[in-house]
Amino acid sequence: MSSLRGKKAQKPHAVCIPFPSQGHINPMLKISILLHSKGFHITFVNSEYNHKRLLKSRGPSSLKGFQDFVFETIPDGLPPIDADTTQHIPSLCFSTKENCLAPFKELLIKINSSNDVPPVTCIIFDGIMTFAVLAAQEIGVPSVCFRTTNACSFMCNKHLPLLIEKGILPLKDASDITNGYLDTVIDCIPSMKNLRLREFPSQIRTTDINDKLLNFIMGETEGASKASAIIFHTFDSLEFNVLRDLSLICPPLYTIGPLHLLTDQLPENSLKFLRANLWKEDEDCIQWLNSKEEKSVVYVNFGSITVLTKNQLMEFAWGLANSKKNFFWVIRSDAVVGDDSAILPNDFVEETKERGLISRWCCQEQVLKHSSIGAFLTHCGWNSVMESIGIGVPMICWPFFADQHINCRYVCCEWGVGLEIGKNVNRNEVENIVREVMDGEKGKKVKKKASDWKKLATGLVGSSTLNLDKLVKDVLLSKN
Ligand code: UDP
Repeated sequence: MSSLRGKKAQKPHAVCIPFPSQGHINPMLKISILLHSKGFHITFVNSEYNHKRLLKSRGPSSLKGFQDFVFETIPDGLPPIDADTTQHIPSLCFSTKENCLAPFKELLIKINSSNDVPPVTCIIFDGIMTFAVLAAQEIGVPSVCFRTTNACSFMCNKHLPLLIEKGILPLKDASDITNGYLDTVIDCIPSMKNLRLREFPSQIRTTDINDKLLNFIMGETEGASKASAIIFHTFDSLEFNVLRDLSLICPPLYTIGPLHLLTDQLPENSLKFLRANLWKEDEDCIQWLNSKEEKSVVYVNFGSITVLTKNQLMEFAWGLANSKKNFFWVIRSDAVVGDDSAILPNDFVEETKERGLISRWCCQEQVLKHSSIGAFLTHCGWNSVMESIGIGVPMICWPFFADQHINCRYVCCEWGVGLEIGKNVNRNEVENIVREVMDGEKGKKVKKKASDWKKLATGLVGSSTLNLDKLVKDVLLSKN
């Protein structure tokens, strides 16, 4: 063994493998940065496709040259595409499950036979990449499942087999989606009362018990239990009862969040500046926001996967225009069905040119923290919700798919920090809800709650840090 290896071997080495989509890469990167700050050597595993996109959006030197933090890649198994676009998520789920274990194991072997880095001592894998448990078992290291969604949605997923057993799922007929069946109240989920079926992950909206996506979700939820521990991106008081009940049926749980509040506290010489945006960020938007009054701008962003129809785009556009409020709207180049240009009509552009800005992508954390932001019109992706709660920005919710329905329910009904827009969006509703949140009585309430939750979240950063320390001591540094 070379002397270099001897020296490096003193460092623990975490291999962190996110599911290859933006909403999973971001929080995994933050966990990796936090572990790096605690003395871990990190290997961060991207898909080849995403890595190429990252190099393009952030520049070739942006992902190398960091001490003890290395990016590696494996193929995702999908045919290559030559575009900066969100891959088809169900295909990506099936493909990673079927194809990633072998290249991941090869990567671990390569790392462990290198003299330049310490041997792998633990694996942190995304909650829907549970094949990684097998790889960890093979090299004899502990593996930790990182659920980038919240505990409530995990609890729902955990009970999907029960809903099948009770005959509530699958749907009897496709018309169940529109005939009110989804309003059925479900009261058999521990510590989650009066849930409606429509708030369960959207994968339940199938009439086929063998539906591939439904079974993928159930399989990955079960798979999480084979890990040495589970991390939830949340904080205790947000989901206290659910976490308590989950802890009775899961491996040890560690709540760590909101992650951006933890990384914000790292010293300047840490890697907290590292970002992994797959689209190029519009940096000029901050200058535009600087020109706006405090809490006067509605920030609109539906994340990295949501796709709107042209009609929905128009309803949001005219609702925003008619509200007469300032808005900053991020519309990805692939955000509108069948139209990668997402062009808005000239009369809309003309009417809103003084108070509206449209971009393709931004640094969301930076935008949410800007003093001009008064509300966030969001699809309720869990990262967006955590970022908003941690920064104290009230939300207007328009959930799209997956866990976003349950997130919306908790944001609006349990935590009181948002108002929901109906599924069939129309311009009058958008206009009214935007005005209500910015100026109305309900708006006052959600703003107060948002500020209360921000204080709580900020106050609990210390407890998340302790949880991370405990995870490191009890799991990541333990011998499997
Ligand atoms: N994000 C960003 N800029 C954008 C849109 C999104 O930085 O213009 C980040 C956002 O801060 C979050 C992630 O991308 O960390 C999106 O994750 P989320 O769970 O909210 O939604 P998803 O994209 O998975 O639907």
